[in-house]
Amino acid sequence: MKDSFTYAVLGLGGLGSAACYWLSRQAGGDVLGLEQFELGHGRGESHDHSRIIRKTYHTVPYVRFAQQAYAAWEAVEADSGEQLVLKTGELNFWPEKTTLDESAYNDSMAACGVAYDSLDPAELRRRFPQFQFDDTVHAVYQPDGGLVAAIKANEAHRRLARRNGATLVDNMPIDEIRQVNGGYEIAAGGRRFQAEKLVIAAGPWTNRLLAHFGLELPLQVTHEQVSYVASPHLEEFAPERFPVWIWMIHDNYYGFPVYGAAGVKIAKDRFHPTHPDTRGFEPDEKNERDVLRFLADHIPRAAGPLLYTKTCLLTHTPDGDFVLDRLPGHPNAVCVVGATHAFKFASVIGRTLAELLTDGETPADISAFRFDRNTLALPGVWNLPQG
Ligand SMILES: Cc1cc2nc3c(=O)[nH]c(=O)nc-3n(C[C@H](O)[C@H](O)[C@H](O)COP(=O)(O)OP(=O)(O)OC[C@H]3O[C@@H](n4cnc5c(N)ncnc54)[C@H](O)[C@@H]3O)c2cc1C
Repeated sequence: MKDSFTYAVLGLGGLGSAACYWLSRQAGGDVLGLEQFELGHGRGESHDHSRIIRKTYHTVPYVRFAQQAYAAWEAVEADSGEQLVLKTGELNFWPEKTTLDESAYNDSMAACGVAYDSLDPAELRRRFPQFQFDDTVHAVYQPDGGLVAAIKANEAHRRLARRNGATLVDNMPIDEIRQVNGGYEIAAGGRRFQAEKLVIAAGPWTNRLLAHFGLELPLQVTHEQVSYVASPHLEEFAPERFPVWIWMIHDNYYGFPVYGAAGVKIAKDRFHPTHPDTRGFEPDEKNERDVLRFLADHIPRAAGPLLYTKTCLLTHTPDGDFVLDRLPGHPNAVCVVGATHAFKFASVIGRTLAELLTDGETPADISAFRFDRNTLALPGVWNLPQG
């Protein structure tokens, strides 16, 4: 294995794997990817069968970025010959008590030409009888929403990067990054590598790598979980019959059709602060009871015995927006933080990171994702519930 490259991607979760792929389209064998665990491990943020992809966002730049994400995924699908995005349709349920701003979502979609249907309670019951809500809940249906096949997509990005000549190495924890002769020297797993340009895509471990640049972001890492439930009526919840759905409040419930396991998938945000090195892997039983109760109350034919629960991590920024930018003082080093909702964008984020390093600019509007924005300069103002 050679030890000198033009580009090094540090961290091979969902976003780093995508960056390797898009860099390799231009730079082939000049791309190195380093991962501290085995490729495809389940200790970070990007594991499991599915993630929601949607155009329903609360600002115009996010809706436009989502539109670009669909196009980027199509390019990867064309290159890999695999279907990675399943359009199931997406239902957003708006309860009366929500603190989220529905008009911000609808206006942003309208400004970007994204079609959607507003469903009053009666229309919701008529079109989607699987769901049972009272008259205080209405919905928005957006037909392009669906799921990204997360494990498959990560594998596709890495497989295609290797096909293009990239070197991806697992079990290589990065211990040190030093600036040397205008480039970087990376000490990892007992070896030393040189690279002219860097992508930092370390998810919950971001600040550990930023420390080598004397930088720190006010990030919060939380422990989350998703549950699979063995409905006796699985066929009614197949992707062609049952949309992805989101209960639109802050600590929300959300769910998927049957995909990847023999059960419907449901989750409720936990926002339980943790540390990526000392976290446990045990599910929270109250969260499991809550999601089973939600199914029994609102999607009763999907209710059934718990198949299993899988835990994972989330990395939060104080304002909920990504970091996707050059490091201050380092024009040849870019950093991404997914801020809890980046998987759907993985491919366009990978393309954008590659553009920043290869072309020096990107057509994507990433102005809201600057490293030096005010909300990241302040000490993190965290108000996450403990528990
Ligand atoms: C339960 C759950 C549900 C979610 N649902 C959705 C959804 O529906 N839609 C959506 O769009 N997003 C969703 N997300 C968010 C999305 O999955 C994440 O934003 C995204 O996966 C982040 O990817 P990442 O590559 O930044 O992080 P990770 O996947 O954690 O990757 C970071 C990688 O860097 C490696 N690394 C770190 N430090 C080092 C080091 N020193 N040396 C070498 N390697 C290192 C890590 O081992 C890891 O593999 C969800 C997340 C969770 C947990």
